[in-house]
Amino acid sequence: MASLAVAKGDELFLYSFPEPHPLNRLRLERFYSLLSMDEKLLKRVEFVKPVLAGPAEVELFHTEGYVRFVQEKSRQGYGYLDYGDTPAFPGCYEAAAYVVGTTIELLKTILNSRHVRAFNPMGGLHHARRDRAGGFCIFNDAAVAIEYLLRTERIGNVAYVDIDAHHGDGVCYDFYSNERVIFADIHQDGRTLYPGTGFRNETGEGRARGTKLNIPLMPFSGDEEFMKAFDEVLSFLERFSFDFVLFQTGADGLRDDPLTSLQYSPEAHMYAAKALKQLAEEKCGGRVLAMGGGGYNPDNVARAWKAVVEALAENGAHG
Ligand SMILES: [Zn+2]
Repeated sequence: MASLAVAKGDELFLYSFPEPHPLNRLRLERFYSLLSMDEKLLKRVEFVKPVLAGPAEVELFHTEGYVRFVQEKSRQGYGYLDYGDTPAFPGCYEAAAYVVGTTIELLKTILNSRHVRAFNPMGGLHHARRDRAGGFCIFNDAAVAIEYLLRTERIGNVAYVDIDAHHGDGVCYDFYSNERVIFADIHQDGRTLYPGTGFRNETGEGRARGTKLNIPLMPFSGDEEFMKAFDEVLSFLERFSFDFVLFQTGADGLRDDPLTSLQYSPEAHMYAAKALKQLAEEKCGGRVLAMGGGGYNPDNVARAWKAVVEALAENGAHG
């Protein structure tokens, strides 16, 4: 049995803003093309077709009013969904709903034991909030996945780990007082990058105090700083019990990304993915769902996500 399910299909390319926007289909194409050159690795991967989410699934996280707003803008096909980062385009509702549906489909293949681990390269749209778009993100598939696990599947705790160069504000703040969401995020310091948040002292509130870990890194930090920070993430996670790992693998922290100033290599992604896979083996039967996220240098995206696939497709105690 293939150890890793990877989402693949033309529907995922629909999530592509009009040129010259940095989030376009080129990055995903480059990733699949690099993956397709490695025949040995392909044997350990099973491709899963994208699935369209219905409004009820999207509304596990988002408000009904916001979902209607996106549907309307999608029909109009112009203007912005937020204050200027996230343009509307014809069919943007369906494009975003495919990302959500595909992430949920992959969760299901793990929950029904068809696969232990899965990867949706188009997922990880971590800036969208319950009632608004933000930072190129229309619907937050990672946040919908959390709600699905906690409410629909009645899973106990979920660990969410985010290594995108930008802080995962849409997950952090919309679950800030939820102690069942164990959140760890390494990103470029908020004083120097969008969305300007994710400071050390932001650790959750009320009963959830201490369940959120934010590690900002200074601009120009590289693999060494990343790995040290990731070791801190691992010791943080060790203190909790959880039943599922969600992993946002944004590749915009690699050197020469046009939007950020971090300087990781794909080794950072390999290191994080291997360590999380092992931690998941110890904690939750190996269950990891990885999602892509940002990354605006297509070659970086391809190499970072191929490293994630390599690490997660490795056979472990649980397959
Ligand atoms: Zn990002």
